[in-house]
Amino acid sequence: MITLKSKREIAIMRDACCIVAEVLAKLRQACRPGVLTRDLDRLAEEATTLHGAKPAFKGYRGFPKALCASINQQVVHGIPGEVELKDGDIVGLDFGVLHKGYFGDGAITVPIGKISQETEKLLRVTEECLYRGIDKMVPNNHLADLSRAIQTHAESNNFSLVKEFGGHGIGKNLHEDPMVLNYVVNGRGLKLREGLVLAVEPMVNMGTDRVQILSDGWTVVTLDGKPSAHFEHTVAVTSNGPEILTRLP
Ligand code: MG
Repeated sequence: MITLKSKREIAIMRDACCIVAEVLAKLRQACRPGVLTRDLDRLAEEATTLHGAKPAFKGYRGFPKALCASINQQVVHGIPGEVELKDGDIVGLDFGVLHKGYFGDGAITVPIGKISQETEKLLRVTEECLYRGIDKMVPNNHLADLSRAIQTHAESNNFSLVKEFGGHGIGKNLHEDPMVLNYVVNGRGLKLREGLVLAVEPMVNMGTDRVQILSDGWTVVTLDGKPSAHFEHTVAVTSNGPEILTRLP
């Protein structure tokens, strides 16, 4: 079931998403060689609690931590722990909060020290995919317009899109309908209307699009071990076009 959000609800979600953006900005600053992913997790949880909000992922279907931290060939859902960030790594940081009954969700992929040119390109193209998708979030466009924009940009740069995971509606629940695919299946999909709020999150791989889940039951990795990048915003469709909610004012 798809629920459209009122202006009042979007205002609350804007606050929730602002906390997400602030936490991700703090995490980006904290990312450097030698930092453990569990330290980033603690930082994220503490910053969220200061706002009186709750981390959304902790306990979600049994996920043990507040933050998802996915290094290099890890696509998404990496569990923070005793892993140290190293020069040349990339780390995907995915974070959500629950605030006044509504969720916000966002992700960035951060380079650690000096990364290779090809990995730099992967990060740039993945973030561009996100914004190209968001640009299509105007009333009367269809969901497939967004998916196509993401897919075309990634594939024209010889990267591949993860098919098993995608974006989602968001609101009173972390994951709501519709599924937001990062590739085109068939048909035009749902017609976008004012009040629709979506978490858009392309996951782009340097090599194969094939992924598998590690024995921890969570961590998604590329089958060929090549790096993967992930960027996400929570975005509202408004009469003035897309409004990115996971953004600092
Ligand atoms: Mg999400």
